[in-house]
Amino acid sequence: LPGLYIVATPIGNLGDITLRGVEILRGVAAIACEDTRVTGKLLNHLGIKKRMIRYDDHASEGDRERLLAMLAEEPLALVSDAGTPLISDPGYRLVKTARERGIAVTSLPGPSAVIVALTLSGLPSDRFLFAGFLPNKDKARRDVLGELAAVPATLAFYDTAPRLEDTLQAIAAVLPGREVAVARELTKKFEECRSGTPEELIAHYAAHPPKGEIVLLIGPPLPAAAKDFDIDALLRAELETEKA
Ligand code: SAM
Repeated sequence: LPGLYIVATPIGNLGDITLRGVEILRGVAAIACEDTRVTGKLLNHLGIKKRMIRYDDHASEGDRERLLAMLAEEPLALVSDAGTPLISDPGYRLVKTARERGIAVTSLPGPSAVIVALTLSGLPSDRFLFAGFLPNKDKARRDVLGELAAVPATLAFYDTAPRLEDTLQAIAAVLPGREVAVARELTKKFEECRSGTPEELIAHYAAHPPKGEIVLLIGPPLPAAAKDFDIDALLRAELETEKA
């Protein structure tokens, strides 16, 4: 059937694609992707030969209109280089316009680095706020962290190895005392999830420069009541009452 199929693809381990994902990639007329070499490798691994159409961050209005015209006639898949399309990846405008024009949109779930990191980290997963990539400039980065400081949820960001130290320094300055987890190379051979204070992590990565892809998580602020909660004082008071 014509329409757009959003297909999540692996974030490292090529085994992480669903049966339905493979079936749809095999069945569509063409696959819109960010980088034909990256998607070509996945298709090769799956034994699928299919026309690929480039649709990346630089896609123009015209590129989008061409895809939309095709979508009205035939089924197309949208994939990104890794993980779930639209999640810090292209696709949002295409989906918005397709929906506005009554074109069918189906999303096939699968890996997304933020979810893998959250489920590994041991940080509270009941409430989380994913904020994509932090800005590159230090002032802007600190401003964003400041805006999010009071959000009662685990915060999640995408990051890169060369920027990790600067990010951790900014967290140490703006959100002191918060637990941080660095999830690296998820689903790959050198997968690692390391927790600690920003200072501990800065020291660790100074000695072991990080490589690869990174998701950074920050634990929620301690509730005010817990911060002021002095268990020793409460126990002393309790003992005093018992004695009296
Ligand atoms: N759409 C993707 C998803 O759903 O995860 C994210 C695309 S975004 C352009 C790329 C960023 O995702 C990387 O810089 C890194 O922060 C994160 N990422 C992707 N794969 C990862 C992996 N295997 N381990 C850790 N982080 C990863």
